Amino acid sequence: MIYKRSSTLFNEAKQYIPGGVNSPVRAFNAVGGTPIFVKEAKGAYLYDEDGNKLIDYIASWGPLILGHAHEPVINAVIEKAKKGTSFGMPTEIETELAKLAVSMVPNIDKIRFVNSGTEACMSAVRLARGYTGKDKIIKFAGCYHGHSDSFLIQAGSGAVTFGSPNSPGVTQGTAKDTLLANYNDLKSVEALVAANKNEIAAIIIEPIAGNMGCIIPSEDFIKGLRELCTQHGILLIFDEVMTGFRLAKGGAQEVLGIDADIVTFGKVIGGGLPVGAFAARKEIMGYLAPEGPVYQAGTLSGNPLAMSAGLAMLTELNNNPDIFRSLADKTAYLHKGLDAVLAAKNIPYQINRFGSMISVHFTDEPVVDFTSSAKGNNETFKKYFHGMLAKGIYLPPSAFESYFLNDAISYDDLDATIKALKELEL
Ligand SMILES: *Cc1c(COP(=O)(O)O)cnc(C)c1O
Repeated sequence: MIYKRSSTLFNEAKQYIPGGVNSPVRAFNAVGGTPIFVKEAKGAYLYDEDGNKLIDYIASWGPLILGHAHEPVINAVIEKAKKGTSFGMPTEIETELAKLAVSMVPNIDKIRFVNSGTEACMSAVRLARGYTGKDKIIKFAGCYHGHSDSFLIQAGSGAVTFGSPNSPGVTQGTAKDTLLANYNDLKSVEALVAANKNEIAAIIIEPIAGNMGCIIPSEDFIKGLRELCTQHGILLIFDEVMTGFRLAKGGAQEVLGIDADIVTFGKVIGGGLPVGAFAARKEIMGYLAPEGPVYQAGTLSGNPLAMSAGLAMLTELNNNPDIFRSLADKTAYLHKGLDAVLAAKNIPYQINRFGSMISVHFTDEPVVDFTSSAKGNNETFKKYFHGMLAKGIYLPPSAFESYFLNDAISYDDLDATIKALKELEL
């Protein structure tokens, strides 16, 4: 495949936009080469500026669970746009989407809409701090909760020390309130809770992780977290920006059978437009302005175009919950196919999968946390990524990202993907 025009566009973009992109992973730094500029997309396929057609396994990093340019969503947005794009005043459609979301997700009474997953997580933590009157939070190494200051924290020297910022611009003052634990390691959490008695407002987690590949929590770990939070008056925040409305109507809370105290959403809930949200039972949401003292606001929050896309998307998922089963079946089929092909290649690999999330790791150790995920061979990953791309398969351009299947992907597309891997030298 030729990437002449993408390359020209990228060079031009770099002159006016830092790194040529508006979100770093798009720049292909982890895999090298030129990022592909998209011209348009329909269903399972991307069409790039050089005229190549690609089977898309990222679906805009999750939102487009029914495929690109899905008609009910597009039509809803077009019709809404004709009536005005923003008012900064209440509209009925906000309540419609809120009502539907609350009916689909267990254990929440009220929801507040924002414009991104980052905003949702940032606001959820503020709400947890306001509600509990405590300052510290625990997050897990390798979990991503958006780019707000409190979340850009990496391990210091071991899990029981304070975290240190992993981006310049995040202050030590902020970093000291974020404690870092290891995924699937309840003991690392218990140690932090014991060492910071009555100081922890919340534990925030990706209930199925998707930002260090796809990582599944063990039952003991996730149940243990819930018990620990209840015992110590800590709020459990499920960051369901990825898993919400993707794994099931009720997201990870439903599939894991665990009630969180605050849940955050993004991606699917906006149907491809910028929407995030956070939700909880009414006694917690009652702390939020203007009902309560915790401030949170947004000029474009609840924007009618975004709400109409979200409403069209959730309505379809609510009416056809078989979509979740269909997606999980397709992902299992892909898993089986990739597994058979990789097993014949004699290289170390792991495949992790949950529902319609799947990731391939080139390591011989089970991938259960950030440390094991980071052991994947990135040279092999680069060959894999570029080799598949050359055959028209667009995978996430980083070994730390899960793939997101969309329901427009057909079994023929999956067979083409498996065949492409078979023909690849790794
Ligand atoms: C994508 C993501 C976010 C951030 O959402 P943005 O809309 O990119 O700000 C937060 N948490 C998780 C789990 C995510 O996958």
